[in-house]
Parts: sequence; C-alpha cells; structure tokens
Amino acid sequence: MELENLQCAHCASVIGEKLEQKDYLRSVHISFATKQLKVESDLESEALWARIQETVDEVESGISVVLTEQKKTASEKQIKISDIVKKHLLLIAGVIPFVVALILNPPQLWLRILLYGGAYGLIGGDVVTRAVKNIMKGNLFDENFLMTIATIGAFGLGELTEAAAVMLFYKVGEAFQDFAVDKSRRSIKSLLDIKADTANLYLDGQLRSVDPADLEIGQVILVKPGEKVPVDGQVIEGISSVDSSALTGESMPRSMEPGVEILSGFININSPLKVQVTARFSDSTVSRILDMVESASSKKAKTEQFITRFAKVYTPVVVIGAAALAVIPPLLGLGAFTEWLSRALIFLVISCPCALVLSVPLGYFGGLGAASRNGILIKGGNYLEALNHIDTFVFDKTGTLTKGSFTIEKVSGNNTLELAALLEQHSNHPIALSIVAHYGSENLSGELDQVEEIPGKGLRGNYSGKELLVGNARIMADHKVDIDSEDYPGTKVHVALDGQYEGAVFIKDEIKDDSRDLISAINSEASSQTVMLTGDQRSIADHVGNELAVGETYSELLPQDKLAHVERLAETGRKVLFAGDGINDAPVLARADIGVAMGALGSDAAIEAADMVIMSDQPSKILVARKIARKTRALVLQNIAFALAIKVFFLASGALGEASMYEAIFADVGVALLAVLNSMRILRPIK
Ligand code: ADP
Ligand code: MG
Repeated sequence: MELENLQCAHCASVIGEKLEQKDYLRSVHISFATKQLKVESDLESEALWARIQETVDEVESGISVVLTEQKKTASEKQIKISDIVKKHLLLIAGVIPFVVALILNPPQLWLRILLYGGAYGLIGGDVVTRAVKNIMKGNLFDENFLMTIATIGAFGLGELTEAAAVMLFYKVGEAFQDFAVDKSRRSIKSLLDIKADTANLYLDGQLRSVDPADLEIGQVILVKPGEKVPVDGQVIEGISSVDSSALTGESMPRSMEPGVEILSGFININSPLKVQVTARFSDSTVSRILDMVESASSKKAKTEQFITRFAKVYTPVVVIGAAALAVIPPLLGLGAFTEWLSRALIFLVISCPCALVLSVPLGYFGGLGAASRNGILIKGGNYLEALNHIDTFVFDKTGTLTKGSFTIEKVSGNNTLELAALLEQHSNHPIALSIVAHYGSENLSGELDQVEEIPGKGLRGNYSGKELLVGNARIMADHKVDIDSEDYPGTKVHVALDGQYEGAVFIKDEIKDDSRDLISAINSEASSQTVMLTGDQRSIADHVGNELAVGETYSELLPQDKLAHVERLAETGRKVLFAGDGINDAPVLARADIGVAMGALGSDAAIEAADMVIMSDQPSKILVARKIARKTRALVLQNIAFALAIKVFFLASGALGEASMYEAIFADVGVALLAVLNSMRILRPIK
C-alpha cells in the first residue's frame, strides 16, 4: 500500500507504532522515504484497507491509503503546474488581502484585523484546524501546534503583520519542502526504473499488449529492441544482445540466443527476441529486486532510529523551554512579560525538527538506491551503516575470488567423466556446472537415485544399485577408497563406483582480474585485513592466496570450519564481512556482520541468506558499496550537524531577543530544504 500525501516523517513512525499494536496485522513495515506501507494480514484487502485508513486518520488527516495495484498509473504521473496551483489555492488567495494590507497600511485597527486576519485564515486555516484536531487526539507537540501557538500569540501581542507573514512563510516553505521531498523520491525511484510497463504476448497467433503481471508460465512473448524484458524467461527465437546494466551495473552487453536464460530488467538492444515465460512476474528478478529495495528502507540505520527518538523528546523539551522563557525572566524582574512572551514564540517557531526527520531517511534511502544502481542490493540502512565499520574482509575462494568456471584439463580412467557428469547434474556447485557443461547435459542418461550432496566434499548416489562417489580426497577417505596421488597444480575430482577407484577429472580455475584490484586496495589500508577461506586443497589455496597477496589463507575447510573461523574473528572484536557464492556458505553469510552473496543474478538461496547481494561477479563492488556507505554517512552527518548548529544558534538568539520571527521561520524552512537537497547528492555517480 502507499500512503499518499505523507509529508511528515514523525507521523510515519507514529502510524507504524499504532499499526503494530493491531492484532489483525502480523507484520508492519512503513517507510517514509518511499511512502510504502507493507502489512501482512489474514483480512480481505478491502476490510484491511478500511481499518488501516481509519488508523491513519487517527494520527493525521489528509493521508490516503492507496492499494499499490490501483496506483500503478497514478504514481507515474508528472507534477503539473495546475496541480500545484490547485493544491495551494487557499494560500494564493490569502496572499491578496495580505498584500493589500501591506500596501494600504490602514490606520484603522478593525480594517487591519480584517485584512490580516482574513489572510491568516486563508493561509493558515488548515494548520490551525489540524492542530486542534491533533490536540483532541492527544498529540500535542507537532509542528501545526507550534505554529498555531506562535502565530496566535503574535496576534495577541498585536503583531498582526508578523503573525500573518510567519504563517505565509511557513506555508510557502512547506510547499517547497513537499516539492523537494517528492522530487527526491521520484529521482530515487527512477533509479529503480527496471520494470517493464507492458509485455507483448502471442495469443491465438496475435500479438497483444498485456500487463506483465498477467503473464503465465509457458506463454511466449516478444521483446522488441529497446524494450525491457518484462519477466524471466528463456529465449526461443532470435539472436540479440541485451544490456543488463540496470540490474548488474555492468555495462558489457550480454549475448542472447535460443536456449539462453533471459532475466526481467534486461534491455534488448539489437533485434527482436521470442521468449518463453519461465517465471510469473511476482517471482521474476525485477519484482524480487524491487521488493528487496523497498523492504530495505524499513530496516533502519541506527542514526535514523536515533533521529526519530530524538524528535520525540526534542519538541516537548523546546515547548517547555519556551514556556519557561515566557514566565521565569519576568518573574525575576528581568523585563516585561510581553517581551519575553514574544521571544518564547520565536523560540517555538524555530523548534521544528523537520530538517532532520526529513533528510536523514531520504539520505539512507538514496544510498540504497545508488547502490542498487551499481548492481549492489543492500538489504537495509543498517547494513549500509555497518559497511563503514568493516575491518576484516573474508572471502570464499571458488566463484568469489576465482572465476568458478573450471576448464577440464584431462581425465584419467575410461568412464570417469561420464560417471562424474551423471552425478554432478544434481549439484549447483561451480565444479558440477563446469563438468556437466563440458560433457554436455544432453548426452546424459542412466539410473541414479538417493543422491546426496556432502558440503565441502562432493556427492554420493546410487547408480544401478552401486554406490557412486564424486568429490575430493576427503570423501574418498571417508569411504575408504584409495586414490592415485599424482601431483597436479589444480583440483582433482575423484570418481569411485562400488568402492572401486575409477579415476579423476583434472580441472583448473582462474583468478578474476577484479580480485587482484580488490585485494590490493584493501591491503593498502593499514587497519584492514584480508582472509581467504576455502574447502579446496591446500596447494591450490596457497597458490591463489600468494598470487593475490591475501593476508591469511585457510584451506581444506568444511562449511562448519569456515563458520568457526568467522566466529573466531568476530570474537576478537573485528567487524567481519564475508563474501561467498552462496552455495554451501549460507550459515557463514548469516553469521558475518555483513554477508555478501556474489554473482547472485538468479540464485535464490544466496539472495535469501545474504545481507548484501552483488549482482555481477565482480568482488570489487564491495569497495563501491563501501564508498556509497561512506558518502551516505558523510551526508547524513553533515545534515545533522548543520541542522543542529543552525537550530542552537537561532534558539539562543531567539532567547536573547536577537532574532525576529522572520529570521526564525527562514532558518527553519531553509535548513530543511538545504538538508533534503544535500541528501540528494548521494545519487550522483560514485567515483
Ligand atoms: P570453496 O570453499 O572453494 O567454495 P566448497 O566448500 O564448496 O569449496 O568445496 C570444497 C571442495 O569440496 C571443493 O574444492 C571440491 O574438491 C569438493 N566438492 C564440493 N562439492 C563438490 C561437487 N559438487 N563436485 C565435486 N567436488 C566437490
Ligand atoms: Mg563455495
């Protein structure tokens, strides 16, 4: 669902809290930055919608809950001038009596009251009614309340011009703020513009334009050049190349031909492709990415949580401070009550924490958006923040630092390769994929059952009633099979049938060029450490470790040994990032402070277990992610420091009687605007 007209970050968190108490909702995720509300419930969507709208109204009027499906077209509409005018009609109408009063400057009090009062009513009427409504609901301290007391107080003091002007500035500022927030939301969302609006479906021999969400598995669609692929599928006709950069951040085109898997979000470049649908829209890559990014913004960074809590205590404290300022000095005989009252009112105007509550969530959301633009999915602002503190980079070898696509150098024994391929069909391990691809999956036949994958060792299965084993020396030793001990500078995949050694497939992997850049960059940082963990044999591991100059290398590990290493590092107080290909490594990915799944385009298990997913197979993306994390943090801290400094300065000068109400309102609105604009700098290309 989407919350339309959600302009106040504080309301978002109050709505979230209220909804969380409802027992008809199993889970609630709300994000101010995207205006998204996600709930899980057993209720029918209509009934659910009505109840949620009711709760939202209790908190703040004017926010409408819209089911996302109905929204589709509305969200894409452009901002039109006429809409802006319509929205602010009362404001514009209110300016007229205000200007008239300024020009005429009538001496009669009744006329002044009429003109300024009229202007005030037109401009700020909604602020006052909202304040009254909120007071009746028991939410005392919001910005409507602050503005209402401050301006009504000014009226009381006879400062008619000031009262109306402050309300006018406040509203104009608010309109600008809404505009800026909306615009930033749009630019963040446009980064994630990877969804196709329509699909060309072949139906009864005709081509029809349909909604991608209506496609069924097995149907055939046409993807024309320039179009986005709407759902995941398999190419059945046509040869073309596709641009996958929206998903992977990699600009190299991929070539497509019949039989090849094609993912939603790719853009077809050259010529039309006929594609058979293999996944419904909701299970397709694009939906999964969008879901992830959207739910990511509800996992808040600590700074973000802090600001929400801060805003909650800050406003009441300022209000109490203002009351004290109005009452105590006059009692001590330090001047007239009216003088101090007007200072207190200025104090109130300045107190709105808008700049912080608006810009901090937008900053984090922008950071997540910028990362996904680079082919890096980060599952929450908390991880984006944690990236700044990582000092130990732990890598899996196969498929992470090395290419994981093995070349078969030689084979010993007559049936070895066929038997290996037969069993390896059942595995997704990079070794398995390479052997099967080399042998050709179409040549495979044979009776095989009770197949079992033994992580870190290999596979076993029943082949025509005999036990078939494929894997490393360990699995052979477990089953007491003697193996040949020929020296080989690569990986040997041994094969045994019915306890008899058949021979080995000799395979070789290559180091990714990208890994060299990554490791040397990390090594050049004094405080960072690199570690490689692998299940592969010692000789190869040490060779790769030396080539790359990895700090520490541990080999011949079972998955639980990798876990133990990561735990040991974490216990010594290090902040550990673990990058693996996600096969066999799920527990380690989950245990590390940040688990990174590599090359995960299309692999579900990895996407599940990891905190961060790199869609391409470039491990150096870890550094790009860290740059984005650093930039996000810098922007957020700048905003916090800047907003607080300005606030403190104006609060102090307000209290000392040095700031006018005009300066106060400019300080408040101006800081909020600047902070929102500053947050948007995260969207600029990283380098
Ligand atoms: P890595 O840590 O390098 O990713 P794994 O833990 O996935 O390695 O596997 C360790 C070793 O176990 C591999 O180097 C290989 O010798 C053996 N092995 C694991 N799975 C298989 C498989 N499906 N086929 C053959 N050998 C395997
Ligand atoms: Mg592995």
